Amino acid sequence: NNSSVSQKKTLKIVILGDSGVGKTSLMNRYSTGKFTGQYKATIGADFLVKDNVVVELYQQRTLVTLQIWDTAGQERFQSLGMGFYRGADACLLVYDVTDPHSLDNLDHWRKEFLSQVGNGLAGGSLGDASTQFPFVVLGNKIDKPQDRLVPREQAEEWCRMAASNTILGSQPLPHFETSAKTSESVDEAFQEVARRALYYE
Ligand code: GDP
Ligand code: MG
Repeated sequence: NNSSVSQKKTLKIVILGDSGVGKTSLMNRYSTGKFTGQYKATIGADFLVKDNVVVELYQQRTLVTLQIWDTAGQERFQSLGMGFYRGADACLLVYDVTDPHSLDNLDHWRKEFLSQVGNGLAGGSLGDASTQFPFVVLGNKIDKPQDRLVPREQAEEWCRMAASNTILGSQPLPHFETSAKTSESVDEAFQEVARRALYYE
């Protein structure tokens, strides 16, 4: 045990976005370091666990366990149910840089998330959760530059717009361009989501 590291916490992270954007691939890349390249719906466990993640916040190091919740493919045709969202500490919103529609749909996913978790989220102490819940936005598949249809600026504009719906207003939602295939920026994105989840929690 490292005495400079404070107590261990478990944080629940949910991943949302259209079917096919790479949610499962990103989660697998982060938790196992592998990319299978196969299209396979998530089956079995409701979530994956990543242990011993070190988060630095205000020069304080905290050891956390991430519980990463992915859909089993049912985002295509049915609602995910309350249990999927309940107790979430942060939410990853994923789009595909080769599919502009998947960026447009982040509005839907963000609203769906907020309507499902409602105001019970913050336990009252932080006020209305919808005004400050930690979302992190990921534009995936940047290893396909020839197919890219969403410029970085367009996604950043969405991140500003989504943040201006909140009382905090001034700070755009954090945005990363990632590749589950090459692993580019995947660790950084999950690290940021863990940091925000801890801060919020
Ligand atoms: P999900 O439906 O959002 O969970 O998406 P999947 O993780 O199942 O991925 C959908 C398809 O996109 C699969 O064929 C993956 O191999 C592919 N894919 C996922 N991430 C990437 C990526 O970063 N780059 C490329 N080139 N393909 C990806
Ligand atoms: Mg999936």
